[in-house]
Amino acid sequence: GQWDAAVAAVRALGGDAEIQLVCHVSPDGDALGSMLGFGLGLRRLGYTRVRATFPGKFTVPTPYAELPGVDLLVPEADAYPAPALVLVFDVAGESRLGGLAARVAAAPVSVVLDHHASNTGFGTIRLVDPRAAATSVLAEQFVARLGVPLDAEIAECFYVALATDTGSFKFDMTTVAVHELAARLIATGLRPGDISRRIFDSRPFGAMKLTGEVLGRAVLEPAAAGGRGLVWTYATLADLARHDQPPYVLDTLIDPVRSVAEADVSVLVRQVAEREWAVSLRSKGAVDVSRLAVSQGGGGHRLAAGFTGFGEPRDVVDIVRRLLDDFLN
Ligand code: 5GP
Ligand code: MN
Ligand code: MN
Repeated sequence: GQWDAAVAAVRALGGDAEIQLVCHVSPDGDALGSMLGFGLGLRRLGYTRVRATFPGKFTVPTPYAELPGVDLLVPEADAYPAPALVLVFDVAGESRLGGLAARVAAAPVSVVLDHHASNTGFGTIRLVDPRAAATSVLAEQFVARLGVPLDAEIAECFYVALATDTGSFKFDMTTVAVHELAARLIATGLRPGDISRRIFDSRPFGAMKLTGEVLGRAVLEPAAAGGRGLVWTYATLADLARHDQPPYVLDTLIDPVRSVAEADVSVLVRQVAEREWAVSLRSKGAVDVSRLAVSQGGGGHRLAAGFTGFGEPRDVVDIVRRLLDDFLN
């Protein structure tokens, strides 16, 4: 049903139709990789007017600035004002689309590709599968159904998306099907070692020093989270400024925090503005953190979720602690 409708929506367009691709604010590897890989697929089909964008500040994290298809990217202000078709990648809800939400709502057809359990059901055609390890799994199915053969450029985009959203093929969603897809992507000639070095192991020295400081102030509360342990830390805009680093260098900082053995739940509180914080939540299994996040107007997956918090870092962690008590009792 939805797949046929999505394929028909693309096929209905002439080669010069304006097609706008969008992904979530502060895009990660899956958002950019699934969007750009699909954009390259549209190009192979002969669509000449394809633009890709995301809301807010036009900063592409350095590791993704060399993805194939990055020339499709334009700042939010240069997105098509009234495209014939909008495709939305890795977006759980319209709040993650900032100023682009209205454009998506106004489009004659909007196809949403997403894998968040908390997806709100927006868009006219919904390719939403919470069992998918990454949105790129769905984007790859879509290009295949459109008859586009995988090539090394498209595959690199999808591979980066898959590798980032599965934590380098470590997380629970890493199924046989995920490895089979990875194998098909690698078979186009990709070099996984080169890609990993570029994406994961190419951090500026300042980012490492900043990471050290933020990890150094982490707090472990063994009795919190229903006795399962809570670990948390925070990073301010002043921290970023002191080390001359852009905010996205903190996007993966939750990973060392969540590795703490004594804690089932981990929290990273990142300053966005005066008294405004992006809160990342991770669970090892006992707690469904997407429920916590949704109750605060955020979203995500069972083991990885986030929301926007206000006040001081302590206030935000107080809320998380209280929610944990509520949800665990
Ligand atoms: P991260 O902690 O890496 O920023 O995000 C973890 C997961 O939670 C991602 O799947 C992301 O989409 C989701 N998420 C994080 N912050 C928010 C938020 O403010 N709102 C919503 N709806 N989802 C979020
Ligand atoms: Mn994402
Ligand atoms: Mn994703």
